[in-house]
Amino acid sequence: MKRNHQSLLYRKLIRILLLIMMFANLDGWTQNEMKEKMIIAHRGASGYLPEHTLESKALAYGMGADYIEQDLVLSKDDIPVVIHDIHLEEVTNVKEVFPERKREDGRFYVIDFAFEELLRLKVKERINRKTGEVVYPGRFPAGASSFSLHSLQQEIELIQGLNKSTGKEIGIYPEIKNPGFHLEEGKDISKIVLGILKKYGYSDLNDACILQCFDRWELRRIRVELGSRLFLTQLLEDRSELDDIEAYAAYANAIGPHYGMLIGGMNLKGDLTFNDAVKRAHALGMKVHPYTYRKDSYSGFDSFEELLRVSFEQLDVDGVFTDFPDLVRNYLNR
Ligand code: CA
Repeated sequence: MKRNHQSLLYRKLIRILLLIMMFANLDGWTQNEMKEKMIIAHRGASGYLPEHTLESKALAYGMGADYIEQDLVLSKDDIPVVIHDIHLEEVTNVKEVFPERKREDGRFYVIDFAFEELLRLKVKERINRKTGEVVYPGRFPAGASSFSLHSLQQEIELIQGLNKSTGKEIGIYPEIKNPGFHLEEGKDISKIVLGILKKYGYSDLNDACILQCFDRWELRRIRVELGSRLFLTQLLEDRSELDDIEAYAAYANAIGPHYGMLIGGMNLKGDLTFNDAVKRAHALGMKVHPYTYRKDSYSGFDSFEELLRVSFEQLDVDGVFTDFPDLVRNYLNR
């Protein structure tokens, strides 16, 4: 009798404990989920305003991005300029302002201009150099209004200023562009950028700064030789590079593949199949931040929303680079 009573009590206690654990877990799960899914504004809110302008960065900030991206190329006087390519003609009016400053290959290089000169250029929507047509016809009208280039320092001051005025802590996500080209031109871009980041308070894993690079030797050098303790993302552009995730884990904290590289294909039932890259990265403690999520350019999916659903819910990626931070924010809020 006494033993029955005891076991009843015991079972009750276990039930209560299980309930508590369930709720605690659920709570923990939703909290982690929110923190883990990160929105990275790709070249700012570039779906709405010309890429890499301060205006597009401010808009991305207002749209709820967690991190804002800066592609970096050095000027002649070693100022990191926020621009996607080492060339100028696809996003500026350089041909009209400095027609005589092209190299033998007919191209205009950021690195041939002093920062002061670059400030004289107007930035506009990206055009295809070969056809002369705008790349995304549905976006901001090419040549309208007035935009200019800016430095990494100017952008950090914008984001840190907004962090002060809003009380948020939105991060930066700088990318070292073409380190090999910079080296040929006699410049150590990584060293210069790391110095500026440090000056603005970004030097450790938990600082609101993630540094990215496609060049794996350079990213490893940033960790090992230059001794950076920042969160580092190894960008990947070819599916075969996913074979070496274990090697990246030795120096990087995340991988940044194209989302298409994570999809195996379609099975006989017509469902998407996935390779195990995200699982392998997660097992190594790495995050996965695929690029580039564009409402006006995706293939293999019925809708942009479907691409987001597959990415977050089936692939379980940790964040996405997107030209449309508001749409991803809306999706995650739902
Ligand atoms: Ca980039």
